[in-house]
Order: sequence, then C-alpha cells, then structure tokens
Amino acid sequence: MITVQADVAIIGAGFGGSLTALLVERIGLKPVLIEQGSHPRFAIGESSTPLADLTLRALAENYDLPRLVPLTRYGSWRRTYPDVMRGLKRGFSYFHHQAGEPFVPCADHANELLVAASPDDEHADTHWLRADVDHFFVREVQAAGIDYFDRTTLEDVATGAGARAAGSTGFAGGLTRSAGWRLSGRRDGEAIEVTAEFVIDASGAGRVLERCLGIANDVSDIKTNSRTIYSHFRGVRRWQDVYEQAGGRSADHPYDCDAAALHHVFDGGWMWLLRFDDDLVSAGWVLDRARFPLDESMPPEREWASWLERFPSIAAQFERAEPVRPFDRTDRLQRCAAQIVGENWAMLPHTAGFLDPLHSSGIALTLSGIERIIAALEAGSSRAERLAAYQESLRREIAVMDQIIHGCYQCFDRFELMTSFAMYYFAGAHSSEHRRLDGRHQVADGFLMAHDALYREAVGTAYEKVCQIVQSRDLLSSSAADFSRDVAESIVAYNQVGLCDPDKCNMYPYV
Ligand SMILES: Cc1cc2nc3c(=O)[nH]c(=O)nc-3n(C[C@H](O)[C@H](O)[C@H](O)COP(=O)(O)OP(=O)(O)OC[C@H]3O[C@@H](n4cnc5c(N)ncnc54)[C@H](O)[C@@H]3O)c2cc1C
Repeated sequence: MITVQADVAIIGAGFGGSLTALLVERIGLKPVLIEQGSHPRFAIGESSTPLADLTLRALAENYDLPRLVPLTRYGSWRRTYPDVMRGLKRGFSYFHHQAGEPFVPCADHANELLVAASPDDEHADTHWLRADVDHFFVREVQAAGIDYFDRTTLEDVATGAGARAAGSTGFAGGLTRSAGWRLSGRRDGEAIEVTAEFVIDASGAGRVLERCLGIANDVSDIKTNSRTIYSHFRGVRRWQDVYEQAGGRSADHPYDCDAAALHHVFDGGWMWLLRFDDDLVSAGWVLDRARFPLDESMPPEREWASWLERFPSIAAQFERAEPVRPFDRTDRLQRCAAQIVGENWAMLPHTAGFLDPLHSSGIALTLSGIERIIAALEAGSSRAERLAAYQESLRREIAVMDQIIHGCYQCFDRFELMTSFAMYYFAGAHSSEHRRLDGRHQVADGFLMAHDALYREAVGTAYEKVCQIVQSRDLLSSSAADFSRDVAESIVAYNQVGLCDPDKCNMYPYV
C-alpha cells in the first residue's frame, strides 16, 4: 500500500492542479498531486489572453518559478520551449454568418470585429496545446520533487476527526485546526492512502469534492445555456484566404485574422478556431441548447457535417479538413457549485463552475483563482476570511461573465449590437491588464473588473437593454446606434484603448 502524508492534497493534474502544487511547495507546505489519467493526454480549453499571461507572469515572479516566465509571451515560449506546441494569438476575431448564405465581406467591415491584444508576434499571447502544456507543468512538478500519483482512482475522500494528517508538517499560523482529510483509492491496482490538512479540487468537470461532499450543482441563476461539439483537425484552410477570395480586404485587419481566437458567429451559436504552429486546428461549434437541443440519435460526425452544410463559407474553410481524433460532444456546458470553499478545502474556478468558451476567459480565471487560493493559504489566521472572499468574488465573476456571454448570444444575429455589447468584455479585460501593469491590482480584486461595483452595474444595465432590444424585435438601426453610444458612455472609465470608436469600423489595433 502507498501511504502519503501532506499538507495539501491537490486532485487533478491539469495545468491548474500542477501549477497549484508548485506554488504550494513554494510557500513552504508539502503538496501531493493526484491525477486519474496520465500525461500526455488531450484536453480542451486552449486560448490564452493578455490577462492570463500577466497573471501567470505575476505568479512565476512572486513565487520564484522562473521557468514559467517564457510561457507568458509567444516569442519567448517558442525560443525557450520549442517542443511545447503553441499557436500565435494576436487578438480576437469575429465574423458574422447567415445560415444558408456565403459570407460576404462589407466595405465598412460591418459583419466583422477584430480586437488586437498585442503589439507584435514577439509579445503576443498563445494558444496552449494542452497535451503538451499540461505535460510540461506536470514534469515541473516531478522535477521539484513533489509527490505525484497519476493513474490513480480515488474511491473515498473523507474529512473528519479520524482523517487528520498525523505526519503533516502543519500549516503556519492557525491552519492546523481543521479535521484533516483521508483520500483513498487505487493506483494501478495498488491501494493508496493520502492524508492531508487541506484539499484543493482541481479536477475540473470531474467535480470530485462536489460529489463527495454532496454539494449541489446550482445553475438556477445562470442564463447561458449552450452545448458543444469539437475536435482537432488537419487541413483547415486559413480563413483569410476564404475571406479574400470573397473580396474581403484583409489589409484593413489590425493583425492576421487567423492568428487569433477566431469566432464565426451566427444566430443561435458560434464556432471557435484556434490554429497551432504546426497547423493543427482546434475547432468547435457552441450552440444555444434552447434553439438546437442535443439529438443523441444523430452521430457526432453527422452533426458536425450538418452544421458545415448550413454555412457555406465555413464549409469552404473545412473542405479538405480531417479530424485527428474522435469528436467530443457535450450537453449543457454550464455548471456551478453551490459551495466553492470550506474550512479546509477549496475548488479551483474550473471545478467550481463553467459557462462557455466565448471570449476565452477560462485560463485567466483559473490562474486568478489559483493566485487567490495560494494567498489564502499563506494568510495564516485570516485564511477563512480570504477563502470566503475568494468564493464571493468568483461568484461575482461568474455572474458578470454570464451576462456578457448570454448578452452576446442574444445579439449574435444583430451583429451591430454585438460589436457594441462585447466591448464590456474588452474594456474590463484591458482595465484589469492596466491595473496589473501599473501596480494597482490587488490579489483579492480577482478576474476582469468584477470587483468594481460601477463596472458590474454598467454590464448589468447594458445586458438588460440588449435583451430588451432583441426581444422587442426592434430592427431600427437608430436603436443600435443609441445602444452603441450608451455603451461608449458607460465604459469611459474603463476604456483606455479607444474602444467603441465608430471611425475604427470594428477594426481595433493594439494601443
Ligand atoms: C469546450 C471548452 C472550451 C474552452 N476553451 C477555452 C479557451 O479557449 N480559453 C480559455 O481560457 N479557457 C477555455 N476553456 C476553459 C478551460 O478549459 C479551463 O479553464 C481549464 O481547463 C482549467 O484547467 P484546470 O487544470 O483547472 O482543469 P482541467 O483542465 O479540467 O483539468 C482537470 C484534471 O483533473 C483530472 N481529474 C478529473 N477527475 C479526477 C478524479 N476523480 N481524480 C483525479 N483526477 C481527476 C482530469 O483528468 C484533468 O487532468 C474551455 C472549456 C471548455 C469546456
């Protein structure tokens, strides 16, 4: 039997769990990392953002993990870790499609939105090929001498007096009062028992603690209602080629529109495309479940093809494409744990909940959650307070992102509204980046500008307004123009980069 005693047991070795293990070790506690699978393995959730990069850099610098710093920029990543596959991400590209019709570029770019996120390739963000990146992180864990058990099936996760971690090193400053945990299971058939003072659930959709502690999955307040079907592909044409063939002027684009999180949006859903440096492409349809419920009787391959048949220009992009792995297909993506932290446990953000990949917020949110949980573990006697604050702020962040994402779904087919409404995301993200860069960011502020009551109010008001316009079927272009002006006014305090400028014709260069 394998027996391990630790201060902090981390369940799940995605990049989130592995990074958490590295940081726990850096703050002088003894971590153990437990993973049900083994690396390298496929994982979805690949497009990083400036906020993610800045957060990862802050963690690497503040906790002396210099080997992680090169991952925070495309140029340094490519030079330092050429074998860890990544893709170039210069910004966020959106193109609006009508079912049954080819994409027709407009001279004024009315059916496009491009928002640059970096000045050049060297300083750009990245798409993370998660098989490689997560493997890299777990190798760092092993190199740090941290106990790591992969291929481990947890059968019982218990907390209580009998589960106290007798041989743990003990937390500094008031962290030893908890009852302790005993995690037992099997690793390749051999029994394993881990005792720890604190558990961090990094199992993502595995939701280990939610299940063990009987915590409800409460999506009653969540408005976004989507499902997805996705795979990785070879042979996907560059959208820029299809776009130019259709008469589009890519010279007006502030960056190569394929070197981006490329979104094809349409009434009732959207598609993501993320291109890696070896021309592998991650692509997935994300669909409004109310409009397009999952039909289990239709094989995923058939469903994939049926969506391509609806959108001729996207079909042209995929005409020679082949999936390199079976399709993954989900029913409702949204989940939200009713409790996120306890006296001696915490969930990482992707374990606590998930909304939708629109605007690529997951990696940044995960990193920001890790930053807050580690700060709480370091906080000694105010740990409980810090954990409670993390729970509260994460709930606010989920609520704000839900309004932003659901609001965008509402106006996918009123693209002129979407190009305005989406500015709340970009203004929030840019403001958070600026606060990090000029030293105003506090760890407790968390993700986006959700800590800021005025920002939350502005998003909430605009969300209600956009739903109203769409529901009233008000097709007047004057209402879109009024809405756009309202958005511009309400984000003034968060708009350091010239968003909402009609003269830019939806083409936003990096500022
Ligand atoms: C369809 C989709 C698309 C997304 N796209 C993006 C995007 O473009 N950009 C972005 O920023 N974010 C995106 N996300 C979110 C992103 O995937 C998450 O933020 C990220 O994966 C969080 O990393 P993690 O390590 O916390 O969790 P995960 O990546 O979910 O890792 C969890 C780990 O726990 C392990 N595990 C599960 N159960 C158990 C168990 N019982 N015992 C032990 N181990 C267990 C799993 O094997 C896995 O290794 C997307 C998410 C989805 C669902």
